[in-house]
Amino acid sequence: MKNISEYFGTNLFDGRVMREKLSPEIFRSLQETINEGKDLDVNVANAVAAAMRDWAVENGATHYTHWFQPLNGFTAEKHDSFITPAPEGGVIMEFSGKELIKGEPDASSFPSGGLRATFEARGYTAWDPTSYAFIKDKTLCIPTAFCSYGGHALDKKTPLLRSMQAIDLQARRVLALFGVTDVKKVTTAVGAEQEYFLIDKQDYLRREDLICTGRTLFGAEPPKGQQMDDHYFGVIKPRVLEFMQDLDEELWKLGVYAKTEHNEVAPGQHELAPIYTTANISTDQNQIMMEMMKKVADRHDLVCLLHEKPFEGVNGSGKHNNWSLSTDQGMNLLKPGRTPYENAQFLTFLVAIIAAVDEYADLLRASVASAGNDHRLGGSEAPPAVISVYLGEELTEILDAIESDTPYSGMTRTVMKLGVSSLPEFTKDATDRNRTSPFAFTGNKFEFRMVGSSDSIADANTFLNTAVAEELRKIADLLEHSDDFDADLHEMLKGLIRRHRRIIFNGNGYDDNWKEEAVTKRGLRDLRTTPDCIPALTTFKSIDLFSTHRVLSEDELRSREEIALENYTKTIAIEARTMIDMANKLILPAVSAYTAELCTSLTVKLSAVSDIDCDYERSVARKLAAANGEIHRNTYELKKNLKKLSCMEYGLGSAEYVRDSVIPVMENLRKAADEAESITAKDYWPFPTYADLLFGEI
Ligand code: ADP
Ligand code: MG
Repeated sequence: MKNISEYFGTNLFDGRVMREKLSPEIFRSLQETINEGKDLDVNVANAVAAAMRDWAVENGATHYTHWFQPLNGFTAEKHDSFITPAPEGGVIMEFSGKELIKGEPDASSFPSGGLRATFEARGYTAWDPTSYAFIKDKTLCIPTAFCSYGGHALDKKTPLLRSMQAIDLQARRVLALFGVTDVKKVTTAVGAEQEYFLIDKQDYLRREDLICTGRTLFGAEPPKGQQMDDHYFGVIKPRVLEFMQDLDEELWKLGVYAKTEHNEVAPGQHELAPIYTTANISTDQNQIMMEMMKKVADRHDLVCLLHEKPFEGVNGSGKHNNWSLSTDQGMNLLKPGRTPYENAQFLTFLVAIIAAVDEYADLLRASVASAGNDHRLGGSEAPPAVISVYLGEELTEILDAIESDTPYSGMTRTVMKLGVSSLPEFTKDATDRNRTSPFAFTGNKFEFRMVGSSDSIADANTFLNTAVAEELRKIADLLEHSDDFDADLHEMLKGLIRRHRRIIFNGNGYDDNWKEEAVTKRGLRDLRTTPDCIPALTTFKSIDLFSTHRVLSEDELRSREEIALENYTKTIAIEARTMIDMANKLILPAVSAYTAELCTSLTVKLSAVSDIDCDYERSVARKLAAANGEIHRNTYELKKNLKKLSCMEYGLGSAEYVRDSVIPVMENLRKAADEAESITAKDYWPFPTYADLLFGEI
């Protein structure tokens, strides 16, 4: 096998390639655009395009595409060939700066949530030089933003980039308060740990629900589930290991720093953690990672399930969005410092983040809301739907000390105005204690654990960045003209801690008492379902926040609300239709056939020996007949409710309707079918069971 360093990033047009292929002036100019946001010169664009094309062709590419992330949560590409006919015959490979910078895909096939009037189908893509271009499937993929002709963002990257600018600006203002003025840029650093399931392809192909919806809509609990906890750090099966090695290699070629892989709590579940990078690149890389997982799994006759809840009764999958702020000087602003002043600065950022999470908890919750994630949040396997912040005892005590003007007990030296002279080295806490927290401080970063496994991490980071930018803005506004900085800073922190301390919770988030306490005593909100959260996008407060920082306009927010509600409704409707189909064509006939078999056996036995024990046949046939009746009635009701739904317009009303009138019927239908499955002979069951899927041979 080749040495990793030989092929790492071979499919990535990164800094190394740029330095090699571009003249020093062009390289410097491009770096200024990337690092400082300077405008891009046409000559530079042309030179970069030519270098990119040469490099791509050398590496086997024949096509190029503007790669973007429309609002449906996937990635899109429209391939164009480099080939242009040469005047004397034959072909030449062409790719100009103009083609690099701007594309014009037909926008009408992507969701716009009303932003793009139907007569204006055009949209355009614009090169994002801050994320490296890469080669995939013989195609040069150029990361781009996607907008309507009116300039509205039709994608997830544009607002993310805007939010990174917003937090950069405000963070530098706050740093200046502490005398740090030489920082040119503050970037959001993100590492997204990705969970996924692997199952056998043959099993997958026999399950209509997995094919159509990505999750099992039926399936009785297997005798052995995840109770034994014997999967985490257990031995990785050879076929899975081969998949992982193959995946690593593909990702390394694309410059994704895939690092740790281990089994997760649930059988068949695994995790991949890349090394963190800027929020923007992390978001792109996470999309690439998900795509590669599916592709590579297929090569190994496996299927990678990215759904948040593929199996009932088994832990679902999420993403841990590790988030921090770092300067171009390499300083992590979430790392406690050594001197009192560094600590005051650290605490200011920390308190700003706490305030942001409390103030905009509804928006953070909305940023991770989807039909799939509704199954997971609050199910005692993932963070609860109530948002809180885990700080750990040490830090909480320090904040307490500031709030109450008492010396922090962990300190021996004299107390400064700020209540801290030197902070202890925090122990990096990755224990079980905080696994239940939606938003946990883990030593030098926060881990936002509510993101769904199939979701893009763009929204979560966009919302988080903007909320924190707003709190930093308020702090800077207040303190920029202060006459007594130390005293004013101290008072301000005290006030913020007092106002927002309700969001700090270091206990067990799965505990039912916590939910009770959070809602009744602390006034936090427990938003369980997507229709509960999405309206937060367009409240006055949200519009004010996002327009102040120029991240999303009111129109853009409304379009996102519309798309989220429509997606939710459509997802549930597809699931319901799949259930009806499976019930009618597979489950009802199978249960009926087995019931008939039992009845035949009963008759045959009784005619041979009149007093023979027929308890099994009689009682199971009765139970199966009753279950089938129940399946039939629920299927009928589901169909009826879907018909009602088809007369509604997409919006909050339809989303609430599916939540309240479709999902409960789906649950009843599933219950009856699972009951039938558990007493039907294995040979009769029409598709692979949970035991096959989770513990079968892979
Ligand atoms: P943990 O043990 O807390 O899960 P790891 O070191 O395994 O921590 O890191 C988990 C993820 O967090 C990785 O993707 C890693 O790159 C990322 N990460 C580590 N430090 C930071 C940071 N300062 N900012 C953002 N992400 C980070
Ligand atoms: Mg983690």
